[in-house]
Amino acid sequence: MAQASLLSPGQVAAPGSGDIVVRDPRTRQTLYSFAEPSDADIDAAFTRARQAFEKVRKMSVAERVGETLKIRDYVLKHKEQIVERIVQETGKARMDALLADVRAVLEIIDFYSKTAEKYLRDEKVPTPIILQGKKSYIRYEPMGTVLIISPWNFPFNLAFVPMITAFVAGNSIVFKPSEWTPLKGLVEEIIAGSGFMKDAISVIYGGKETGRRLIEQRPAKILFTGSTRAGKQIMEQAAKNLIPVELELGGKDPMVVFDDVDIDRAAAGAMWGGMMNCGQTCTSIERVLVHERIHDDFVAALTAKIGTLDHAAAREGAPDAGDQDVGHMTAPFQIEKVQELVEDARAKGATIHTGGTRAGESQAFAPTLISNVNNSMRVISEETFGPVITVEKFRTEDEAVSMANSSPYGLSAAVWSKDMDRAERVARTIESGNVSINNVLATQGNAALPFGGTKESGFGRYYGAHGLHGFSHIKSIIVDSGSKHELHWFPYTKEKYELFSQLLDTMYGKTGVGRLLGIIRGGMKLEALAKKQRR
Ligand code: NAD
Repeated sequence: MAQASLLSPGQVAAPGSGDIVVRDPRTRQTLYSFAEPSDADIDAAFTRARQAFEKVRKMSVAERVGETLKIRDYVLKHKEQIVERIVQETGKARMDALLADVRAVLEIIDFYSKTAEKYLRDEKVPTPIILQGKKSYIRYEPMGTVLIISPWNFPFNLAFVPMITAFVAGNSIVFKPSEWTPLKGLVEEIIAGSGFMKDAISVIYGGKETGRRLIEQRPAKILFTGSTRAGKQIMEQAAKNLIPVELELGGKDPMVVFDDVDIDRAAAGAMWGGMMNCGQTCTSIERVLVHERIHDDFVAALTAKIGTLDHAAAREGAPDAGDQDVGHMTAPFQIEKVQELVEDARAKGATIHTGGTRAGESQAFAPTLISNVNNSMRVISEETFGPVITVEKFRTEDEAVSMANSSPYGLSAAVWSKDMDRAERVARTIESGNVSINNVLATQGNAALPFGGTKESGFGRYYGAHGLHGFSHIKSIIVDSGSKHELHWFPYTKEKYELFSQLLDTMYGKTGVGRLLGIIRGGMKLEALAKKQRR
């Protein structure tokens, strides 16, 4: 196995070797390595998945749900080993692996087992009076073989949640995990061990180039979770073949704190929202905007709380039995970036209240709180994606909203106030896919709520009914008994034109009984005319 550079252990190793090396972020020890897939591997994965699709599409929703319940049971039974695997490749706190990775997967399966049949059944919709005698409905049909590409921060959650959703909607899947946290063999083990339908999911391991080669196979849809930069590249490539894409990208989430809050609870919320998963969460609280009246008290409370965190940078090498708050950072390049952003802020005069450094050469970064920041600092404009929270002051509600909306991103946000009218007003005005009021990251706790972003955070939604519909080919059907000719069919005549013109005046210009009688009268005149003129 070739030796990789320490800064990019997940990337291609020595020239020509093609090896991807996976390391334990806690120790930097090599766990295993593997080669990029051959063209034949990629072709075979798509062939298997496409053949499986022919079976999946014919299964009832209940049958597909039944398959996913096998996965739920297996994951539940083996959750400790799965947590272990996730921690080994991500370095995250054990609790984060249990709650944010494993729980999310159990929850989505449970949720769709109760709702998918309802969300995917044919949906009757109203038919306008002008189309009298017909009925209209919407069908949610499977799309085909879809491609799911995941990042490294939640390698289990962001693999299985989209895969389960796509499968329940009737699709087969080709899945590419991140080269940094491939959890190699785990998905296959869960499929085989649980007895889940064979070949409905094919996994291909590799880096970005492999991702590009997978898109060349023209999947029916791509769900991509990752950076905004890669999302744009993927959309550009997908556009060449008009492949629909759903992009779940980066974030720079604001938390707006008004002066009527319980400062202790708000500081505890900000701390968890900013530091859980070591801040490597697309919906991390990164910018806390605090009313000037309570700014100093809030900063003092948050500094004190962060001081109580049990984190990897303080006890490097200590075991985590589920009792460590903040773990290691997963990717070496990310810890470098976090350090750069903190140093940039420090050099430009920011106050670092706590943290601000990594522990030696390790991948542990001390939880960091920064105030006295301004827009010239990269930590304010760029996604930090690490255990760093900045605090800024605002004076008025309008100013808070404008600061929150100044970001190019729009993934998630939080608004804290005891004045519920104000909190809801601000929540509705913030440009973001998700907002939690008097909480943080809470929308993700409810599988019924669609998840996704706006602006540079991407588009498309999964979770909830939208998730299943996003993986469906949406077909509109109208059923006519087939008994009569339509009034608007040929021939077109001047007389017919005038009757239709009067009908439009009635339909869209009148209301109540007058409208109804007008439509009936106009319809009868048109019927009589059409009978006379029929070809
Ligand atoms: P990344 O974009 O570097 O990589 C993500 C995945 O895409 C990897 O599997 C990678 O191999 C693949 N990839 C990269 N470029 C590609 C290309 N041109 N074609 C095909 N595949 C390609 O992201 P990352 O560093 O792994 O993850 C961190 C980012 O993910 C952060 O910006 C974070 O905010 C974002 N994220 C978003 C969400 C969300 O739901 N919105 C969730 C988690 C993470």
